[in-house]
Amino acid sequence: MDSAVDLTAFRNPERADRILKRLKNEITRPWVIMEMCGGQTHALMQSGIDQLLASQIEFIHGPGCPVCVTSLALVDEAIALAKLPNVILTTYGDMLRVPGSAGNLFAARAQGCDIRVVYAALDALKIARENPDKEVVFFGIGFETTAPANGISILQAYRTGIRNYSVLVSQVCVPPALEMILSSPQNRVQGFLAAGHVCAVMGTSEYIPISEKYHVPICVTGFEPIDLLAGIETVVRDLETGCWSVSNAYSRGVPTAGTAGALAIIHELFEPCDRDWRGIGIIPDSGWKLKDKYSAYDAEKKFGVTATETHESDVCIAGAILRGLKTPPECPAFAASCTPEHPLGAAMVSGEGTCSAYYRYRRNHDRA
Ligand code: SF4
Repeated sequence: MDSAVDLTAFRNPERADRILKRLKNEITRPWVIMEMCGGQTHALMQSGIDQLLASQIEFIHGPGCPVCVTSLALVDEAIALAKLPNVILTTYGDMLRVPGSAGNLFAARAQGCDIRVVYAALDALKIARENPDKEVVFFGIGFETTAPANGISILQAYRTGIRNYSVLVSQVCVPPALEMILSSPQNRVQGFLAAGHVCAVMGTSEYIPISEKYHVPICVTGFEPIDLLAGIETVVRDLETGCWSVSNAYSRGVPTAGTAGALAIIHELFEPCDRDWRGIGIIPDSGWKLKDKYSAYDAEKKFGVTATETHESDVCIAGAILRGLKTPPECPAFAASCTPEHPLGAAMVSGEGTCSAYYRYRRNHDRA
């Protein structure tokens, strides 16, 4: 994986230039490509690849930002859980700033709730071990990437008899979202860059029936400039020749069959469920919930919390952005009343959010 790899070659400007020249020669008409993951969006914009190819490829930014798509109802439930007596709520740092219907976890902490930032689910489990007289809840968001790590904390709690630990599960899965985009009458996407870290867990086989059903090329990429350009080149070749395939331009990180140990944890703990994506709505079978065997660790069941009434910001158009229908500069609040310091929507909070990417790399231009 990348931590053990010298990445210099994947950031090499001469190599990037050669691929860009080849691409410009090969492209005969404009194409629309979606990068699924917020990490890819940030990498494309940071490196300027999207602008270097702007006259030939339109990049539409996909809904692959876990902070952005975690439903408003779950954010509200997390706040409600944090307000319960005797509860320590733990979550990733970004989640504290995500707006709920009325305030965020930061505000709840300022009001005296015990809310702690952790880097991993096992850190939350450690807090549970150290506080046996408290109930520790982990707000475990994420795509397939985080499911094994979130799941292993539950498995350890189950196997060691820790009962004061539970998880507010909000796992989401990429392939059903991809199908939702492709089956929309408004869809313009012709090819996809799939996220390397998701496929490192799941492998690539889930994408084959989607590629065949919708006749779209899908290429898995990493997050360095050369990784992205190699994926773009593969997708463009398919598009230019009228082919579609599932390919892997990130073989140093993605085994075709996924990672067996991670998949075993997922299969042991989770089963598919419909999931509400913020700004998008319910996508059938697009999430995972805990199997009945582990229901004692399901915070929703343990505490009976449900958010039935939610209120989204009136100005935020993040839902349309997540579906690729609008871009952040089309939002009247962008870089005005909505900034990373004062986000009105989740897409401005996260390091993977599209609004945050535009703010960071494009805020002085590209205004609608
Ligand atoms: S700029 Fe802010 S308010 Fe506008 S869509 Fe993005 S997150 Fe929502």
